[in-house]
Amino acid sequence: MREELYKDPVFSMAMEQFNEVADFLELNDEIRERCRWPKRWITVSVPVRMDDGTTKVFHGHRVQHHLTRGPVKGGLRYHPEVKLGEITALAIWMTWKCALMDLPFGGGKGGIACDPSAMSTGELERLTRRFTMEMIPFIGPNIDVMAPDMGTNEQTMAWMTDTYSTHNGHLEPSIVTGKPLTLQGSPGRTKATGHGVAFLASSALEQTGGSTQGASAIVQGFGNVGSHTAHTLDTYGVAIKGISDVHGAIWNDKQIHLAKLRKHLSKEGTVAGFAEAETIDPQEMLHQKCDILAPCAMDRAIHKDNAAKLQCRILAEGANGPTTPEADRILNERGDVHIIPDVLCNAGGVTTSYFEWVQNLQRYRWTEREVLTKLETMLQRTQQQVRRYAERHKLTQRTAAQALGVCNVAKAKATRGMFP
Ligand code: NAD
Repeated sequence: MREELYKDPVFSMAMEQFNEVADFLELNDEIRERCRWPKRWITVSVPVRMDDGTTKVFHGHRVQHHLTRGPVKGGLRYHPEVKLGEITALAIWMTWKCALMDLPFGGGKGGIACDPSAMSTGELERLTRRFTMEMIPFIGPNIDVMAPDMGTNEQTMAWMTDTYSTHNGHLEPSIVTGKPLTLQGSPGRTKATGHGVAFLASSALEQTGGSTQGASAIVQGFGNVGSHTAHTLDTYGVAIKGISDVHGAIWNDKQIHLAKLRKHLSKEGTVAGFAEAETIDPQEMLHQKCDILAPCAMDRAIHKDNAAKLQCRILAEGANGPTTPEADRILNERGDVHIIPDVLCNAGGVTTSYFEWVQNLQRYRWTEREVLTKLETMLQRTQQQVRRYAERHKLTQRTAAQALGVCNVAKAKATRGMFP
């Protein structure tokens, strides 16, 4: 019955990974079950008045995987394909990510099945405000703190802050993270996920005998994570040769000029058609030779049919769940691709969200340099911890990273005990 509720290929991926980690950690059945299942999932229908005067009912989910180590933390996604099983898998990965980074949070994720690109600003605002109202009994700065994800952004978070604050009668900025600076967002938060991906990818490259100077990269997805990954890699001296988004892919054998691409993107709404690059098939782009391949779009981008064709040295997982377990096995057998698993690679986002939450609770603001320095210190420490743990126990980077996270959660659950 429970499995039926969450039935989804992405949920199956999260379960397969969890079972491998739980076997390695030799967790007993009781603690396994307590770690595995979400504490709560909330599904709401969200009626919205559309611009043409009709009313449309959208469906949204929020999964709170566990609250043992603190409030639930995780993004809110707007996408036509949002499903409960996938949202649950993303909440589970958030749990391991927060515990791996030793942040005082459990994992959560939310989503509304909608196509934001086909909705007006007014429709998106009404959808966001109504969803927030429906969530009010279940969220709060000490219960559940949402953040942007695919299809949502700073403006979405501003509407959520306003709706929650109006309901409470005073401004409560710590209800969400990823807010605009004018509403006490944190300097550095918008770029944090991509900055972290690039920082970890370049240090992995150097640790495996390469150098960022003269290196090349391919980035799949050019939204928040992909664009900031590309930008930071560019500042490190890495040539970005291939970039794709949902509309197409572009290639320049020397290097894509990012400032010019941003101008093209703001006019056309897509990277496709950029004059100073060739068009390339988005799948073919992934197979090109490069030092760093950063999938920063959707889950399952690297699968059994393309894993053998990758020609990168570092696979930097900016997206959540971009590599299927079959692809993982192929890459691990090959042994020539260093994978930075999602729970580590994109942890810059939630870590900086944690900094934003702390600043909001303290009514204090740090500078962007302070934020990014603290972030880099934490990412570097965790990357070294994962590498040492993987070496000591002969594990893949993914299993090592998840095992460190699961272990922290299991210990917290065992230590707190169970209310009789
Ligand atoms: P976004 O909506 O800002 O951007 C998504 C990008 O992916 C867009 O450029 C879109 O065109 C592109 N895309 C969608 N489908 C594609 C396809 N089939 N092929 C190529 N490109 C495609 O989303 P985002 O916030 O950048 O999130 C991207 C991924 O990173 C998601 O998996 C998300 O869960 C993960 N993530 C985001 C954050 C964050 O702080 N935003 C933090 C951690 C992880």
